[in-house]
Amino acid sequence: MLPVKTLVGLYKKKDLEKLFNKKKIIIWGVGPIAREMFCCLSGHKIKVKYFIDDRIMEDGHTFLGKEVLNFNKIKELDLKEYFIIVAATEYKKQANLYLETQLNLKKNISYCNWLKIARPHAMINFVKNEGISYKKIYRKIKKELPFISKIEIWFSTNYDYKKINFNDFLIGDQSFLNSFQIKTSQLEIIRKLKSFKNSQIIFHIGDEVGIDKKILDYYDQILEELSKKETIFNNQNLKKNLNLFLYQSKILNEEKISKITKILKIKKITFWMCDPYIMPYDKVLNNLKKYNDIEKLKNIYNYYNFDIQLYLDLSLKSKNKPCLCQRVYPVINNDNTLMHCPLYEEPILNKNAMKSKLMKEINVRSKHTFCQGCQKYGLHRFDLKVLKN
Ligand code: SF4
Repeated sequence: MLPVKTLVGLYKKKDLEKLFNKKKIIIWGVGPIAREMFCCLSGHKIKVKYFIDDRIMEDGHTFLGKEVLNFNKIKELDLKEYFIIVAATEYKKQANLYLETQLNLKKNISYCNWLKIARPHAMINFVKNEGISYKKIYRKIKKELPFISKIEIWFSTNYDYKKINFNDFLIGDQSFLNSFQIKTSQLEIIRKLKSFKNSQIIFHIGDEVGIDKKILDYYDQILEELSKKETIFNNQNLKKNLNLFLYQSKILNEEKISKITKILKIKKITFWMCDPYIMPYDKVLNNLKKYNDIEKLKNIYNYYNFDIQLYLDLSLKSKNKPCLCQRVYPVINNDNTLMHCPLYEEPILNKNAMKSKLMKEINVRSKHTFCQGCQKYGLHRFDLKVLKN
């Protein structure tokens, strides 16, 4: 069994300074990872000079108050003075190739990939309306795991947003990111969050694909929102902190998808097209164990246009590589449970998350036997295609 060691990147200030060698920093990317990198560096008072977005043609774009360069602009710089951090998953290979072949830069001397300096991030799931407050969980994490740079905040579909104390989230500083993961059916939460600082909103148009889940027509909701006069997408504050992911699904027809992408382009909102995302994995694993073939799963996922055979084949090919969830720790549900893995609803590491010792639990998790079953079917690499798309 592969151990699930929680990855801690190169984040100590002296190590980063050695790597950057007094060069000015450029971050390649303007998405959630770029924002996370910006936070990690800000925590050490290391300044970022520019961002790069290879999709823009014209000048004048900014991200987090810094100028965004296009390819033409990069070529005008004296690159000996700069160090580039590639903050992208899907474009990582192309970006590396471009930097090596077009700009003659050497890896780890003039550029590096974000994982080299990334820190682990935590996840808090709001599953219970009257559960533990964000502030309380945040303080525990910060005290016991000060190297964490981000908390992903999820709300279960039935969570009553009226009961959320949004002031709880006004916590942290520039070195720490609150990352809200919102679904189309939770638009009201976005309205409440729109002026928040030190936070980003990852907005999923579509939904995770899960067996037995009721599917709503998310694209209709988003079209309705986009056509409103006072839409949340006209809000400049929100636009700055928003990352939009469009999850495609068979039930969402081409016509709607093209309508949405057209409006988003007109409104100059950056978005990413993605494959559907499977969550949680419990039933996938159970079915694989029980039937040892994927026919039943194929029938279910076919409905979502999700090619489970392809995903399993790909993940099995990289079965011997580390788990993609290593960077995510701890996962705490606000019903006071410390979870083993962000992708599964079971098992629980500790029923009393608030009383658990988080550093100690890292070791328990790294040797947990549950991972054996997951790794047998390659599910620990199951997201690879989504991440590499
Ligand atoms: S259950 Fe699978 S995905 Fe989760 S931590 Fe273990 S090996 Fe990784």
